[in-house]
Amino acid sequence: MTDSYSNPLVYFFGQGRADGTAGMKDVLGGKGASLAEMTNLGIPVPPGFTISSTVCHTYLDAGQFPPRLRAQVETALQRLEAASGRQFGGSAEPMLVSVRSGAAVSMPGMMETILNLGLNDVTVAGLEAQSGNPQFAWDSYRRFVQMYGSVVDGLPRKAFDGILERRKTDADVARVIDLPVEALKSVVADFKAHVEQETGRAFPDDPIEQLWGAIAAVFGSWNTKRAVDYRKLHDIPDAMGTAVNIQTMVFGNLGQDSGTGVAFTRDPSTGAAELYGEYLINAQGEDVVAGTRDPEPISTLGEQMPQVFAELQQMAVTLERHFRDVQDMEFTIEHGRLYMLQTRRAQRSGRAAIKIACDMVDEESISVEEAVARIPPNDLDQLLHPMIDPSATLDLLTTGLPASPGAASGTAVFDADEAEALAREGATVILVRRETNPEDFHGMVAAKAILTARGGMTSHAAVVARGMGKPCVSGAQEITVDEERHCFSVNGREIKRGEWITVDGSAGNVYLGQAALVEPELDGDFSRLLGWADDLRHLQVRVNADTPADAHRGRDFGAEGIGLCRTEHMFFEGDRLSAMREMIVAQDHEGRTRALTKILPMQRSDFEAIFRAMEGFPVTIRLLDPPLHEFLPSNPDEIASLAEELGKTPAEMRRIVEGLEEVNPMLGLRGCRLGIMYPEITRMQARAIFEAACTVAARKGRVMPEVMIPLTATVVEFRKQALIVREVAEEVFRERQITVPFLMGTMIELPRAALTADEIAREAQFFSFGTNDLTQTTWGLSRDDAGRFLPYYLQHNIIDHDPFEILDRDGVGKLIQMATELGRKTRPDLKLGLCGEHGGEPSTVAFCDQLGMNYVSCSPYRVPIARLAAAQEALAQRGTMDRTRATV
Ligand code: ADP
Ligand code: MG
Ligand code: MG
Repeated sequence: MTDSYSNPLVYFFGQGRADGTAGMKDVLGGKGASLAEMTNLGIPVPPGFTISSTVCHTYLDAGQFPPRLRAQVETALQRLEAASGRQFGGSAEPMLVSVRSGAAVSMPGMMETILNLGLNDVTVAGLEAQSGNPQFAWDSYRRFVQMYGSVVDGLPRKAFDGILERRKTDADVARVIDLPVEALKSVVADFKAHVEQETGRAFPDDPIEQLWGAIAAVFGSWNTKRAVDYRKLHDIPDAMGTAVNIQTMVFGNLGQDSGTGVAFTRDPSTGAAELYGEYLINAQGEDVVAGTRDPEPISTLGEQMPQVFAELQQMAVTLERHFRDVQDMEFTIEHGRLYMLQTRRAQRSGRAAIKIACDMVDEESISVEEAVARIPPNDLDQLLHPMIDPSATLDLLTTGLPASPGAASGTAVFDADEAEALAREGATVILVRRETNPEDFHGMVAAKAILTARGGMTSHAAVVARGMGKPCVSGAQEITVDEERHCFSVNGREIKRGEWITVDGSAGNVYLGQAALVEPELDGDFSRLLGWADDLRHLQVRVNADTPADAHRGRDFGAEGIGLCRTEHMFFEGDRLSAMREMIVAQDHEGRTRALTKILPMQRSDFEAIFRAMEGFPVTIRLLDPPLHEFLPSNPDEIASLAEELGKTPAEMRRIVEGLEEVNPMLGLRGCRLGIMYPEITRMQARAIFEAACTVAARKGRVMPEVMIPLTATVVEFRKQALIVREVAEEVFRERQITVPFLMGTMIELPRAALTADEIAREAQFFSFGTNDLTQTTWGLSRDDAGRFLPYYLQHNIIDHDPFEILDRDGVGKLIQMATELGRKTRPDLKLGLCGEHGGEPSTVAFCDQLGMNYVSCSPYRVPIARLAAAQEALAQRGTMDRTRATV
């Protein structure tokens, strides 16, 4: 965005009609746009003005403010003074303001709000006289200098806290608010002296200077590491910039008839349709979220201040109707008068998101399409999270607030950096903190769950955890966290760093040890929503399932067939593993045939069970693609015992195993290469498939096998393997006197296959893109070794995403597109699917639909996500999605 001379840089709100509207988020940021929109709805908002986000980069690039901004801010300040009847810097009726950051998308790392700006030794006297409350005036002043010093000047908070603690001890009081006025005055003086000593500059007394310092700090915070990291993680453009809101103060800390709080128009955890939130009497701003005092539930406000409560409810209804979505509101009560300070789309748990969407459809406030469009597909994941096994014996440590649903176990970690480091090494950790703040964000990303000792249901920890879909217990007051010593104590017990704990964020419980977890039950709203999604989508969704159990789970989650059944995965344990090993180490055709004879019945019975589970939906069975080394022992003892089992000497066995070793097994004797070298393997597998299919068909079951040749590079490989499969099929059909329709196709997972897709499609009836291997082979990169440099690449913007997580559209995607087009040229009815891990990733699902594929296939738990993502893509193609697309 450019600083075009025709556009104003400053937008007024809070009186009459605002200069802005909700639609101007790009310019005003989310906070500014909501303040403008509330003004226009007639909701009481303290007057203020927003500096356009376009100024952010102008300022950051030039290192100074554009000259016309100064003039516009001055005019706005005059207008504010007129609106409030007070003077900025005035000694009798001083006007105080807050300075609040706010981009179009909210993000951590941005400058924290400064309250009470405009106070100095002169104006504080005015505030004192005006309020008749010196305690209040000096406490506000103290808060302001403290916030300004830490936020604008960037000084550590500890020193300020230290000064306060000392004064509290001297005065022998427990709370700052109880300090005598004289002590508060000394605190302010100490704070200012501290700032001067640390920065080398006197604390600014001139309100105008304070204001510009704060504005500059807001813009500067756009480039803090946290903010930059967050934008990267969420694909938010750096060019967006933040707006700055300058707003006249209202005071929730003027006594028992004042207060401040947050409220949600519906319960963001369960979705229940009732006002939900917390508040504190005689408190200001962040007191509620900071967890320094324990807030009251919003329902209590109904008893304490019925009039205010009724108004709040009315505003909630107005805002929710207007924005047609659940709102998260901040309010302040000053001497019994209610003001709104913010409203935004409420973060909600996956479960709440679905219930709310369904309820709003029933209330006829949104359409079915909107309901489907507004659920971020990955949120469904939370509903599919495991819960604690009800029959497990548990050692309850303590109970806190059920801040974010789901359960998880992990080792206790007390520091965000450490959580991140341990998680990177593969550890499962739970972040335990006294309370969290935006600095802990990366640790929360890394942790499986979050536990805090302080803070309510709307604390930072709770809000962020819900957004991430991680279990969280907040406000577990019985625990004392010692962040220095890395431990916490609770009811006489001490839990140290590295000890296992389990957090149940649905119940608010914390247990010692690793609890058994069970799969969740899905409720009616979930199936309703996915039912709507199914009606909307074109793309089919299959499941990757290697066992009958996975196949059943896939069906339960709505899969319409199996897109990938990896036959080698049936052989990872027990008798099966021995038979497999025997087959691999067999030295001749005879030995191999002997082993294969043992394997045949096992495969046949698995296939039968899988066909049955799929009830006639297609089942794509990939012929053996065993990375041989994964099946063979490597240490001498195990080699010796395998030798004994198979009647060989240890030396012989060692020679065989060494003979099978490959420098790069990923690119070695794998896939169809094995079946080409040892056709008896392909023969056996084909027999197992068709015998199973005939058995099911003979009992009137419907069955639709699709036999898939892995790792094809050339059409000749495919032809040879397909020939064997077809021969065996004919044999079995003759023997069983029954015929089962089937398809023959191949996995496309080598660039050469994609490049020659037209030739391969002459003989193959379907393609399934194996994007895991296709990514590895296109990038010339083994996934197991990628960890050495991919993180660096990501950090240094050499690549935007991990290509194993999000399909690399520019490279791998281009190959897929080419193969799709080439393949359909020679075989117009070529069936196309994608079966890598990417198959359950929403943006890849969309891509597959855009290419006109028939299906995606993914792990069972991702099937609902793919169904929803496919529906959203269908809506997007209809053009209805852009307006309503689910936001992060
Ligand atoms: P955040 O984005 O961290 O919520 P906010 O700008 O919303 O930051 O403000 C932090 C706290 O200060 C909130 O509780 C908010 O309601 C309060 N606040 C902000 N501006 C004012 C004001 N002008 N008067 C009273 N309270 C305010
Ligand atoms: Mg806020
Ligand atoms: Mg493969």
